[in-house]
Amino acid sequence: MHLIFATHNKNKVFEVTKLVSKDHEILNLSDINYSEDIPETGDTLEENALLKARFIHKIFNKNCFSDDSGLEIESLNNEPGVYSARYAGEEKSDEANMNKVLEKLNGSHSRSAQFRTVIVLIIAGKEYLFEGIIKGKIAVKKKGSNGFGYDPIFIPNGFIKTFAEMSIEEKNLISHRAIAIKKLTAFLNKLPE
Ligand code: IMP
Repeated sequence: MHLIFATHNKNKVFEVTKLVSKDHEILNLSDINYSEDIPETGDTLEENALLKARFIHKIFNKNCFSDDSGLEIESLNNEPGVYSARYAGEEKSDEANMNKVLEKLNGSHSRSAQFRTVIVLIIAGKEYLFEGIIKGKIAVKKKGSNGFGYDPIFIPNGFIKTFAEMSIEEKNLISHRAIAIKKLTAFLNKLPE
């Protein structure tokens, strides 16, 4: 089966392709010569993932899926959530975003947080949702230089190091995205070709 992954992010496409059976071919937006931005105007991760999948499905009328992820901090009412990329402003600075989180949690003992990914798949016009969650806590200061986004301030439960102190391989074994992708690929791998 051919499936369009509604993303411009090559790393995400690589990650999914590695996990999906060879019977399914994943095409990204550049493979189908689509270079426009996809609207991400929803107020929740679910809404955004749905918006993106429906948008691409409407244009190409092909089976497709999309993803949306964010950091949810318990004591901040699950902020920054769907606004994770632009928490400290439209310039989407990882440093400024992390500084804002650390300032808001300054002196707080309640540092529980989770990363969450939502994937929406549209097959034969039917919509399916897959979720991946990794729970952990926000560190007191930034540590490590691997990864991206909030990785230097997120310590997954059961570990004493941040995501940014882990290798990509180590992070990818346990991450929210990997969990959601594994659910998606288990579903896809059960489908007839
Ligand atoms: P996206 O929906 O995967 O593009 O993620 C939106 C934003 O959430 C990113 O720009 C990051 O700020 C944050 N985020 C999502 N996943 C991760 C992660 O694995 N590590 C760190 N930050 C992440």
